[in-house]
Parts: sequence; C-alpha cells; structure tokens
Amino acid sequence: MKVLKGATLIDGTGASALSDATVVVDGDRIVDVGPSDAVRHGSGVEVIDLSGMTLLPGLIDCHDHLGHTGYGLMDRWELDAPPSLRHLRTAQVLKDTLDMGYTAVRDAGGLDQGFKQAVDEGLIPGPRLMLSISLISPTGGLSDMRSPSGHCCPGPVNLSLPSGMADGPDAVRAKVREMVRMGADVIKCATTGGASSRPGHGPFDREFSRQEIQALVDEAHDQGRRVMCHALGGPGLRLALEAGVDSIEHGTYLDEDPDLIPMMAEKGISYVPTLLVYVYHRENVLAHVKPRARDLYPHHMESIQKALKAGVRVVAGTDAGGWGHPRNAGELQCMVDEAGMTPMQVLMAATGLAAQCLGMEKEIGTVEKGKLADLVVVDGDPLQDIKVLLDKARIKMVLKGGQVHADRRAVTGVKAAAG
Ligand SMILES: [Zn+2]
Repeated sequence: MKVLKGATLIDGTGASALSDATVVVDGDRIVDVGPSDAVRHGSGVEVIDLSGMTLLPGLIDCHDHLGHTGYGLMDRWELDAPPSLRHLRTAQVLKDTLDMGYTAVRDAGGLDQGFKQAVDEGLIPGPRLMLSISLISPTGGLSDMRSPSGHCCPGPVNLSLPSGMADGPDAVRAKVREMVRMGADVIKCATTGGASSRPGHGPFDREFSRQEIQALVDEAHDQGRRVMCHALGGPGLRLALEAGVDSIEHGTYLDEDPDLIPMMAEKGISYVPTLLVYVYHRENVLAHVKPRARDLYPHHMESIQKALKAGVRVVAGTDAGGWGHPRNAGELQCMVDEAGMTPMQVLMAATGLAAQCLGMEKEIGTVEKGKLADLVVVDGDPLQDIKVLLDKARIKMVLKGGQVHADRRAVTGVKAAAG
C-alpha cells in the first residue's frame, strides 16, 4: 500500500484544488482520498511525502499517432527505415510519452495491436492504449495513400495495419469489422480533407456519402465501438454529426454553421480540437498547407469558445506524430494561451473529460476512490502556470495502475514507514 501525502490535489472532476491531500493506493486502485487529517491508513505502509507539490490524475491524450514520425511520403509508406527500427523508435515514443505524465492515449491511426499487447504484458513501458488501427475513408480520402505521381502505396507494409480505404456502405461495414478484427478499440474515420491533405482536397471537401458514414457509425456501434471522426468543415462535417459520430476531431469550422455546435451539445458529441498540429502547419513548407492552416485559425478559436459556451465536452488531443513527440502537453498550453480556456478547464479536458470522451470514466481520469491509480506529481502549480507540465524535470512522479513508472524526486523525499 502506498500513501501519497501532503500534495495539493487537483482531482480532475473540476473541484477546486485541495491543499494537503492524501491519496491511498492499494495495488492498482485508489482506495481513499481526502484531506490529510481525515484520511486514515495503517502502519507499515509506504508513505510518500509530496509536500509542496501538485498531484493530478494521469494525463490523457485523446488524439495521437504514436507510430508516426512525420507527414512525408517516406514516413506514411513506412519506407524510411526497416520495420524493426521503426517499431523500436515507436517503443521509445511510448516510454517518453508516459515519462511526461501521459498515462492513457487514444491512438488515431498507425499503431497496431502488438504495441498494446507489449505494454499490457509489461514488455515495454507505455501509456494505456486505445487503438483505432487505420483511419477509414473512401478512395481519394485521407486513407488513400496514392502518391502525387499516381503511384500506389507499395502494398501492405504492415499486415497488422490494413488499408482503411472503402467505398459503398457494404464495404464500409466490412472495413469496420476488419478494424475490429485487427484490434480496434475505437473506429477512426474521416469525412473531410484536412490542412495537410493533398492539393485539391482540403478542409471543406467531403469524403463519405451520407449512406456510407451512416453505415460506418451503425456498424461501429453494433460492434460496441465509438467513432472518432476527422472533420474540419463543410458538408462532411455536418454529415458526420448527423450520422452520430462520438467525437469530432479538429472541427475547425464548427463556427460556420449555427446548427452544428447545438447538435453536438444535444447528442453529447465530444470535441477534440487538436490545436498544436495547426501551429506546426501554419509554418508548413508545403505551399497548399500553410494558407489552409492560417485561414482556419480564427474559426478554430471561435469554434472552441462557442462549444464551451454551449456545454460541449472539449477535450485535449495533440495529433502529435506529425510534428514531434513527446511534448503533448504543448496542447494544454495552446488551449490556455490561444483558445482562452482557463487552466482548470484545460486540466479537466486532459483528465476527467478526456476519460469521458474515451468511455473510460469509470476507470481513469479522476483521483477518486475506486479508480485506477494513474497519477502525476508535479513540482509547481499548473493552475498558475500550465507550462510546468511541459518540463520533464518538474514532473516528479508518474504512476500507472499504482506502479511507479518514474520517480524524479530527491531521494530524501521518501519516508519508509509511518502511522
Ligand atoms: Zn490525427
């Protein structure tokens, strides 16, 4: 049993910070939490003195690509290195991401189930993983890997990551089943182009037809899987919402149609804006990407503010993978500095609300009795300065399921036993 004592607790529920808190961990669960003078525990337990530090739920990234290292064709076609080297690099990304306090990540495509199995077996350290395997889109959509010259992707480079391309409702249903067969915990699809998609296929260009996206959503739900949908604007964004996807990824032009945000609030659809990737794209060297990223910026900010006002669940996702791991908490800084969210709103977006987006709120996301002990201890107060979450030296401890993954406190901070 571990007793984490004396930290200021931000529990992820939105409750205000509690100074001098105690959290009791038994095995992989939190068994008690509250003010230190009210929480009792037996003797002979390990007491960890966290005075002067802040204790948070483990951070959750609702949109990452842990297996990606860039946007280039060499990376997308997995041609830049032997598969073994790519896998080992990805294993390092998993470790680095957990090191930064991210104890759960929803992967938005490009990570096969072997990584999740390796983490679950304890073979490699990493966050809890929720996988989508491959993004599903029609021909010409985001999963169409054809090169600018018209060449096709050189066959399935990784048999564990099937092509996500499907046309027509029946093929789309079969594709959802294939992803589930390959280990998908969530179904990822796209209904519009994006900032970085090919010239001629941008944020307002629709991918699936109404029948196709409806078939995808229905089949995913029949299989007990949620749907996370890449959609920026235009008719594809509306179709996704009407079909009943569970989260909108990016949603940069939600502000343009007055029906959309109320529809999200009413249906309980989460919003994962992924701000940081567009900071990267605003300086993208590709001539067609930069103007798209710059054009969408004011709409993105407006969409987030309107969504918050309407009571839509706005959660943190980075789309890291294209621009560099493991500075995932840069998203949180963007949410404060660019989108004007309060630090408390942002911390909830990366913990309690993020867990709701993943459908894992019974297990993770808040520091409450009965939850898994996924915890982060930081030196500093993220409510005053969110950037402490970007500084590895200030992330003093990371626990996942009660196990200490990282402990960067001074050795003198540990006391052996107490009453
Ligand atoms: Zn993405």
